[in-house]
Amino acid sequence: MGAVDERAVGALLRRQMRPLLFFGLLSLAGLVAMSAIAARALLGSYDALEAAAARQRAEQVYRAFDADLRQLAISNRDYAEWDAAQEFIDKRDPLFIPGNFSGPQLLGMHVDVVWIVDATGNEIHSGYVERASGTLTTPAPREILEPLRPFLARVDELRHRRPSEATVATAAGPMGVSATEIARSDGSRGTGAVLLFARFIAAAELQRVYDASALPVTLASLDPAALPPQVGRAILDGTVEPFVAEPETSHRIASFAVVRNLAGEPVAVLRTEAARDIHAIGVRTTFYLIGSVAVLLLAFGVICILLLARLMALQQRDFESRRNAEEQQRENRRNLAKQARRDFLTALPNRLYVQTRMPHLIAKMADSGRMIAVIYLNIDRFKSVNESLGHASGDELLRIVAKRLRASVARADLVARMGGDEFVIVASLLPDVQAVERLARRLRAAVAAEVLIDKKSLNVTASLGIALYPSDGLDTETLLKRADIALHQAKDAGRRCHRFFSADMDAHVNQRAALEHELRGSIGSRQIYLDYQPIVDLRNGRLVSLEALMRWRHPERGLIPPGQFIPVAEKCGFILELGQHALREVLAQLREWIDAKVPVVPVAVNVSAIQIERVDFVKLVKRLTAAAGVDPQWVRFEITESAMMKEPEKLIGTLQGLRSLGSKILLDDFGTGYSSLSYLNRLPIDLVKIDRAFVRELSEGDRASPVIPLVVDMAKQLGLKTVAEGVETAAQAVGLFELGCDFGQGYFYSKPVLARHCRSLLEHLDHKGRLTDSAVLRAVSG
Ligand code: C2E
Ligand code: CA
Ligand code: CA
Repeated sequence: MGAVDERAVGALLRRQMRPLLFFGLLSLAGLVAMSAIAARALLGSYDALEAAAARQRAEQVYRAFDADLRQLAISNRDYAEWDAAQEFIDKRDPLFIPGNFSGPQLLGMHVDVVWIVDATGNEIHSGYVERASGTLTTPAPREILEPLRPFLARVDELRHRRPSEATVATAAGPMGVSATEIARSDGSRGTGAVLLFARFIAAAELQRVYDASALPVTLASLDPAALPPQVGRAILDGTVEPFVAEPETSHRIASFAVVRNLAGEPVAVLRTEAARDIHAIGVRTTFYLIGSVAVLLLAFGVICILLLARLMALQQRDFESRRNAEEQQRENRRNLAKQARRDFLTALPNRLYVQTRMPHLIAKMADSGRMIAVIYLNIDRFKSVNESLGHASGDELLRIVAKRLRASVARADLVARMGGDEFVIVASLLPDVQAVERLARRLRAAVAAEVLIDKKSLNVTASLGIALYPSDGLDTETLLKRADIALHQAKDAGRRCHRFFSADMDAHVNQRAALEHELRGSIGSRQIYLDYQPIVDLRNGRLVSLEALMRWRHPERGLIPPGQFIPVAEKCGFILELGQHALREVLAQLREWIDAKVPVVPVAVNVSAIQIERVDFVKLVKRLTAAAGVDPQWVRFEITESAMMKEPEKLIGTLQGLRSLGSKILLDDFGTGYSSLSYLNRLPIDLVKIDRAFVRELSEGDRASPVIPLVVDMAKQLGLKTVAEGVETAAQAVGLFELGCDFGQGYFYSKPVLARHCRSLLEHLDHKGRLTDSAVLRAVSG
């Protein structure tokens, strides 16, 4: 495939692929967006899960913290509802305090501050243990006790609250508080006094929360600005969920629990943190999910591309096969076109080719200063070959001629068969007319060389008409037409020759058309008449018969020879009327002579092949002879050899019919056609008329044709008589006689003469029936 085709295919496919590609990209973008959304959603749900877990951790821490403070409350209640405590209030046993609330005892209970107040609000005892040193300060410093005072009045309320709610923020940090009214252990007698325990929420507390919850706990700042916004909100707004989760980094998440006091005010923020395991799982899961989707997409894309590539390959193959089919079709068309321009019999180009090729040739020659010769070539009497030897032989002859013509011209020259036995030779680059003349002779010689068909040697000749470019025409049509006119001229000139077109030929052709027109009016206006030419016995000169020859006396052009108007009449069919007219005239003449007691001889009438073909000629003769009252034995019929070959069966029937009427048949122009001598015996004829071409050769001495003796011998064997026409000299007459010919006709005896002269000839025959010199002289001169 050429680069151009490849590009064309590429462009075609690209054009087809464009929408596909567009939709592919669009859906890819859609998929990417969708997976991004899915990833976000997935990750979001993991994060929500993570947040929930983190919040749960905050709650857990808070609960552990609560539990730790509950412990404080329990210890506080145990002491407050102990009978010994009640007794202490009542009796103020001085040993009670040191025995129960010594420094180590307080430390053991994780109590930092103990405070006992009586029903009126007066302090009975207070103590503060410093954890680090274990020193007990009694009474406790005011600044430590002061923030705890509100709890003393809220003992009942504290009962129902969570321990973690009993917290308070102090300057020294947040504290957990528990306060219970001191009463008898069965609860029967309250004292109104209160026992309060308080505990700083410090590292130890946080450690215990850690131990209980297994979560690391710290105290976060209470300043909302220093905390994540959500935590800040939870601190500021008591209605907001106190457990908040807040991712700190991509790896860790913090959980906050806001601790509020009884008034709902934030007191402390517990903070724990954990690794972001769920988030990590989410990220991993999302990554894997998106990854696998991407892989799937990729695989899908690859499959699509492969499929598309296959499709493209298929399309391309389809395209190629279509292209091949088209190529094939073009080729077929070319071949057909070529065939259409070729003659299948001879393989030469045909008329169509000539017509398409010539304009190019002419265009090429236009300014060369050289000439083109357009030569029409016609095989003389080809019809006879076809008819006598059969079509296969005719075809063979055409092939041979075609080959010879082709071989006699230059490679660049054109030889074509126009149809039938007509060829056209177009020779270019000819320097002058002499070159054309030489070419014409070469072509004629090529045709005239001996032809052997079926072991028979044929004598073939050709007639040529030549038109020259640029002198005779500048276009194909004109040149061909003029070459054809020249060809007809050559034929009229007796064939086996060539003619160059000349301007007066055109006139001749026009004349021919006019002739045809005028011919149709000729019979009625009595311009057509018959001359009669005697036929004599060669042994004794006796007049044995006459030949009627048609004449046309044209009112302006004078006498027109039958050689000019008979072919025209044959071509246009008018010969039927002319022929019938001739027969009628002859019969009328005979009737007249017989009536006038003129010693008549049989008169031969020329019959055209067309007359036999188209009408029931026997019936016509029967009718006309009967009408004229003339015995058919006085009429003879001359039919040319070539006419004989047309339709042998019908012809033979006609001839037999005529003979059965009593008429004799002459075979005219014998030897010019191609019928073999043996053909003669098949025909019901009486006389053979040897063509004057052979008689002419008799006078040319040693070049005498062997035809006459052959014909004479053959005719003798068949019981036929022979007539020689065109006898012009005594020598010819003697020669013919010596060759055994029976009769002679020609100027030597008499030219064709007018009917009245003929009558006088008949009336003045000598006693032996011979033409008298005086009568002939009279006839010829008259
Ligand atoms: P054809 O039948 O061969 O007629 C003989 C021709 O030879 C006549 O020419 C005649 O004038 C000519 N001729 C006779 N003696 C001599 C001679 O010694 N020397 C030479 N050179 N010529 C001689 P014509 O009259 O010009 O007729 C020409 C042809 O026209 C005839 O040839 C015939 O084929 C045809 N033709 C004439 N009349 C008729 C007719 O009535 N019907 C038909 N169908 N054809 C006719
Ligand atoms: Ca004749
Ligand atoms: Ca003749």
